[in-house]
Amino acid sequence: MFGRSVYSSHFISRTMRVPAGLRMPSVCLLTTLLASATAGCAHTMLANGRPTLDAFDDVFSGSRQFTDAAGLPPLSMANDLPKKTERRVGQLRIHADFLLAGQHRLIRELDTLRVTLSQELDLPVSDEPIHLYLFADLSDYQTFVQRHFPGFPARRACFIETDTTLAVFAPWQERIAEDLRHETTHGYLHAVVPGIPLWLDEGLAEFFELPQPADGRHQPHADHLAGRLLEGTWQPRIERLEALEDAAAMSQDHYAESWCWTHWLLRTTPARRRLLETYLSDLRHDPVTPPLSARLRDMEGPPAVTTAAVRDHVRDLVE
Ligand SMILES: [Zn+2]
Repeated sequence: MFGRSVYSSHFISRTMRVPAGLRMPSVCLLTTLLASATAGCAHTMLANGRPTLDAFDDVFSGSRQFTDAAGLPPLSMANDLPKKTERRVGQLRIHADFLLAGQHRLIRELDTLRVTLSQELDLPVSDEPIHLYLFADLSDYQTFVQRHFPGFPARRACFIETDTTLAVFAPWQERIAEDLRHETTHGYLHAVVPGIPLWLDEGLAEFFELPQPADGRHQPHADHLAGRLLEGTWQPRIERLEALEDAAAMSQDHYAESWCWTHWLLRTTPARRRLLETYLSDLRHDPVTPPLSARLRDMEGPPAVTTAAVRDHVRDLVE
């Protein structure tokens, strides 16, 4: 079930075509259990089963990706995976260590998210299973993650992609709905656009982690960016996001800005939405394709014009 190959570079998986069967194992580790409630998630890379040294730093911001944990037994052989409830709902395979109805409102919502995402982004739906492993007790989740992903910083939830499996691990806690919407979005995206750039992957996960009535409007991010604009300490610049090759370099500003560009593309004009849809479609066929910034220059004009439009968008969102 879980492929356990080792790859050396997160960069390769996101910028080059990866042959089928050699998909990079990756991890999204959502907000720390121990620190900020506003932090995003992280992609992390394990080298020979051990985290890189900087994986221990700054546990609630930035992203890191781990290669697979060489030397550890495959997760498919694990005897501590949740299995009291086994449900198949659409693309989701739910495994919980407690009784959970397949018709639970959140599970229905996560199933619906598949179609919402497909319609919003004009992407096909996939039948590739996304496994959700749910733990009733936080301590059981933490023990599981520490056992199978030694060295991971403590996070509220995590998404793991290996060459054969898309899987989410999470404890059933207060913010489970937001966490599962975020992590399941990664799953749905990676099932159809495995080469999606890091910044867009996180921007879309932040967009879709919100409940439907919010319509992708992440007010804390908007307020944060508006404040930074007022201070004169931030200017939108998509090329800076596109240059993020190492997920460890992602800060909270990057998460907020990634969401902001995503929201601007999806919620301002039909032409911008189509631009994003076309970009995702091109990425599906070849991850080496002109970046969004180049496409925006062709459509909107010089970067200064686009930057001014995004600044205005942020101001509109906080008025
Ligand atoms: Zn994420």
